[in-house]
Amino acid sequence: MRRKLDLRTGRPVWFAYRVPTVPTEKLTRDVKADVAVVGMGISGAMIAEALTARGHSVVAIDRRGPMKGSTAATTALVQFEIDQPLTELSDMIGRVKAEQAWRRSRLAIESLAARIQELGVDCGLDRRPSLYLAGNVLGPGALRDEAEARQAAGIRATYLTAARLKEEFGIERDGAILSHGNLTLDPRKLTAGMLLKARERGARFYAPAEAAAIEDGKDEVTIATKAGPTVSARHVVLATGYELTDMVPAAKHRIISTFAIATRRQPRKLWAQQAFIWEASDPYLYMRATKDGRVICGGEDEEFSDEKHRDELIGAKSARLSAKLARLFPGLDTKPEFAWAGSFGTTTTGLPYIGKVPRHPRILAVMGYGGNGITYSGIASEMAVAVIEGRDDSDAGLFAFRGR
Ligand SMILES: Cc1cc2nc3c(=O)[nH]c(=O)nc-3n(C[C@H](O)[C@H](O)[C@H](O)COP(=O)(O)OP(=O)(O)OC[C@H]3O[C@@H](n4cnc5c(N)ncnc54)[C@H](O)[C@@H]3O)c2cc1C
Repeated sequence: MRRKLDLRTGRPVWFAYRVPTVPTEKLTRDVKADVAVVGMGISGAMIAEALTARGHSVVAIDRRGPMKGSTAATTALVQFEIDQPLTELSDMIGRVKAEQAWRRSRLAIESLAARIQELGVDCGLDRRPSLYLAGNVLGPGALRDEAEARQAAGIRATYLTAARLKEEFGIERDGAILSHGNLTLDPRKLTAGMLLKARERGARFYAPAEAAAIEDGKDEVTIATKAGPTVSARHVVLATGYELTDMVPAAKHRIISTFAIATRRQPRKLWAQQAFIWEASDPYLYMRATKDGRVICGGEDEEFSDEKHRDELIGAKSARLSAKLARLFPGLDTKPEFAWAGSFGTTTTGLPYIGKVPRHPRILAVMGYGGNGITYSGIASEMAVAVIEGRDDSDAGLFAFRGR
């Protein structure tokens, strides 16, 4: 289990908000369950919740502790809009598969919202429209084509001309796609809420407990932890975020660095409907607001994963984000009250890998989920249940390790 990363540094905005404690125990003896989940971030939490809801017994371990990985650093724009525009994804993998991926992502947002409401998880859930602004990757013409491609796939999208964008949102750009139905939430509260639901149903949590080696037999998988005790289960789900394990094929996956800031509270100065905003640009910029009126702004990605270099850049990168935000919204106070950096795993298609690890049928992994990480964690929780119960998920092939 080789790969270890310093996943994030700086102070993410979420530490300004109180989160319920998720109790964990020390792993002092060997334990057994139907399913062992490695990782207690948003992916592991949703997977543990989904499995316990179906009556499976679950043990989850984390080498840091619940919510201590990338989940604390996310900016949490929970969107169905995949990093790769539908038109571009179609060029990469064909229109039928690209539409299938976009539709599943759209559905995942609805399923996640319904799940949060059904369980009564208090995570500040709300709906937000989103604006995808014309930039140097997709100009107005390409954005019009993108909006049409989405509509043809059954996904509502409206192209806004520069005049409408200015009139309705006060933003001066050449055009934008307006979409509806994305989710805003507090990622730590969501993760804690899901873990606590799983715990109510008997899930056992051990931390810090690091999976050091995994051995799979015909009927059972055994995880040896670094401290000695083992976790045995009929199935294992590797929800280790960007820290991949040796057995997971990582060829098409790369780790980059990304940066984010959050401003002071200024609810009266925010833009219309506090829509999520994404630039179709390279380098790109994106933003959202928190429930209490802070603006979170991120981007400035760098194509390296060296954590020391990444952390040295936090000051310069947050100044750049602040300046770019001020150019878009001159009326905002864009001075960062929070600034942080994180590692970020991505694939060329923007699609994650979710499914059985090749040659290890009892081990599932989730990886490579870029800017739609939380949406994909939701899809992973649905697929994990299907695979473990021996059922088909109609989109399994799309995300499988084999065949891509
Ligand atoms: C700055 C930034 C902005 C982002 N913005 C967005 C966004 O707007 N929208 C969005 O959807 N996504 C976004 N993401 C991505 C999102 O944060 C991630 O997809 C998500 O947090 C991953 O959750 P996870 O549970 O898979 O990983 P993590 O939260 O990292 O959890 C994995 C856990 O596994 C544990 N672990 C690893 N190896 C082992 C081992 N061997 N043994 C035991 N435990 C182990 C780690 O300690 C960790 O706690 C962003 C990410 C960053 C960094």
